[in-house]
Amino acid sequence: MTKKQFQTESKRILELMVHSIYTHKDIFLRELISNASDAIDKMYYRALSDESIEFNKDDYFVKIELDKEARTITIRDTGIGMTEEELETNLGIIAKSGSLAMKQATKMEEDHSLIGQFGVGFYSAFMVADRVTVRTRSIDSEQGYVWESEGTDGYSIEPTDKADIGTEITLHLKADTEDDAYSSFLEEYEIRSLIKKHSDFIRYPIKLDVTKH
Ligand code: ADP
Ligand code: MG
Repeated sequence: MTKKQFQTESKRILELMVHSIYTHKDIFLRELISNASDAIDKMYYRALSDESIEFNKDDYFVKIELDKEARTITIRDTGIGMTEEELETNLGIIAKSGSLAMKQATKMEEDHSLIGQFGVGFYSAFMVADRVTVRTRSIDSEQGYVWESEGTDGYSIEPTDKADIGTEITLHLKADTEDDAYSSFLEEYEIRSLIKKHSDFIRYPIKLDVTKH
């Protein structure tokens, strides 16, 4: 499997996230839900201009899956998905708008209270995860792809079987410090309260699924 390197700007943002001492790490959930919602919006607008796509609102939702044993959180959406090229440019090459705002914020004397005011974007996943897996299939592709990264040393993209259009992002949570900082994100009540706190305005249903072992 060939490992590709992140573009320099992206790598800098990633470094900030991986080593983040920012206390409100929970904003990763807000960021990933907002990306999922944006992807569903794009599907909606595509359907407006393409009669072959039927947009049935009930088919569009965000689903969060918690697996305590595997220590994973998966955020799944039925949005527009990403092609291989989009995976490359959106997650590997370009430091996106949110991340740029984040960079400006951290320039301000590392004042971490500022971070929460900006959308820090996809890379915020690396505040809580040491491996992130993105499985996706675009409406414009017959083939699905999986993007994976363990942080600053690069990422890989491989074809994968994915029948349905949309994206699922799996966060493999970091090992706990003394305060169970990461395990708390596997608790149903914690996730429910975070959704209520930060993602209440999302106009698609957010479902929660807890894997029982
Ligand atoms: P922003 O949302 O500000 O553009 P992000 O870092 O949050 O920046 O996301 C980067 C890009 O990755 C998005 O603009 C989008 O193109 C793509 N992306 C992220 N998550 C998804 C998703 N769930 N479905 C489709 N595309 C996504
Ligand atoms: Mg975003």
